[in-house]
Amino acid sequence: MESLPIFMRIAHSRCLVIGGGDVALRKVTMLMKAEASIEVVAPEVCSELLALEAEQQIKITRAEFSPAQIDGAVLVIAATDDEAVNTQVSVEAKVRNIPVNVVDSPALCTFTMPAIIDRSPLVIAISSNGSAPVLARLIRAKIETMVPATYGRLASLAREFRDDVKAKFTTTQNRRIFWEKVFQGPIAELMFSGQEHAAKSALKDEIASGLDQQHGEVYLVGGGPGDPDLLTFRALRLMQQCDVCVYDKLVSKEVMELVRRDAELIYVGKARDQHTLPQEEINHLLVKLAKEGKRVLRLKGGDPFIFGRGGEEIETLMENGVPFQVVPGITAANGVSSYAGIPLTHRDYAQSCIFTTGHLKPKNSTQQNIVELDWVALTRPNQTVVIYMGLVGLDQICAKLIEHGLPATTPAAVVQQGTTLKQRVVVGDLTNLAEKTGLANLKPPCLIIVGSVVKLREKLAWFEPMQD
Ligand code: SAH
Repeated sequence: MESLPIFMRIAHSRCLVIGGGDVALRKVTMLMKAEASIEVVAPEVCSELLALEAEQQIKITRAEFSPAQIDGAVLVIAATDDEAVNTQVSVEAKVRNIPVNVVDSPALCTFTMPAIIDRSPLVIAISSNGSAPVLARLIRAKIETMVPATYGRLASLAREFRDDVKAKFTTTQNRRIFWEKVFQGPIAELMFSGQEHAAKSALKDEIASGLDQQHGEVYLVGGGPGDPDLLTFRALRLMQQCDVCVYDKLVSKEVMELVRRDAELIYVGKARDQHTLPQEEINHLLVKLAKEGKRVLRLKGGDPFIFGRGGEEIETLMENGVPFQVVPGITAANGVSSYAGIPLTHRDYAQSCIFTTGHLKPKNSTQQNIVELDWVALTRPNQTVVIYMGLVGLDQICAKLIEHGLPATTPAAVVQQGTTLKQRVVVGDLTNLAEKTGLANLKPPCLIIVGSVVKLREKLAWFEPMQD
């Protein structure tokens, strides 16, 4: 190890920054976060530094560098573009045993600034000792995605209860087991998902009840429309920490690949008309698994609250006192329209957009299945209509839209497996879309988009995977 990583308290201590440009500003901003008392030395400074001076956040000495300015500083940063000045700052600081950093000149530094992930009071610092700052920053970006933004609040909560935990658990080992459980279990997740009061009272209960209690929880997670790059950070994190994953047909293989390898996988179907498990049973399965103390990932395609029956599932969890959180996903309408090059709204064509289901309902045993929808609402002008689960009823849907007043020439598209490498798009109008879709032999899942915006695809199509 070339240098010792330490965290230095500099609040209200005099820190000197030599230089008045953008680089100096970056360093000043960092020092401000640690509440330093900052003095900038430069004959001229940029407007942002001037603004900070006006707000009395920093002091500016408008002068060339002179060694006496360093006296009494706890650290010095040289950020000028003049190599001679930077070297002089370094020499003078070293003579006085004051830590010095010279931007982009590791050889002149006695300390370097790490890349930082700030979840105060938790701070993660990454250093390449000045050899490859870009690499350190790339690593930081990776870690950023793994450490929830609210980690700091969890650390603050832990700080509040540290003494109580110490009093309750007398050995270091028991304290470690206790905190590991807190930081990886429902209490941490309550905190991360913004249920802070619940987190606090759960932590109190946990301290009171000791180490024996097993608590499970459910993560109701939207897996997006298929492309795994469209997952949220939170979805990915929960996918990688679950004990069991209850998933639908709609979740893409590529997304499933990202679920923790050791997790038990339970498939609950939901292909059209062949539900492997009825909804009611899925709801109870989630409760049962959570009560066994497991972290249950309920993974759904798209967004759980858009034609996802997520509401019903959490209702049952709530009734049974199982902690849960809901993680939104990119719904098919969003993801699929983007990848198909069809903006859902456009100043000239559509000022609103409506999502509907085209699912067929059996009317009664003698009649044919039909699509029952609010056709008046769906045929309003200057509106885009997005129809989920509409492939089977497509011909009926198009006919009804015409019958209720949409021009037969209204552009419309069907998108198969949008956002994935199997994406295919068929474009037509209300008179020929069903036929064209049949000829193209599109397979579910398919999304239907109706409205003038579909025309824009001619210009805006960008995602063109090669079909095998
Ligand atoms: N909760 C999901 C929707 C579930 S309903 C969401 O928010 O996206 C299932 C319907 O979603 C399918 O019948 C289809 O219409 C649509 N769908 C989901 N993913 C799709 C995709 N990748 N491409 C096209 N349609 C999709």
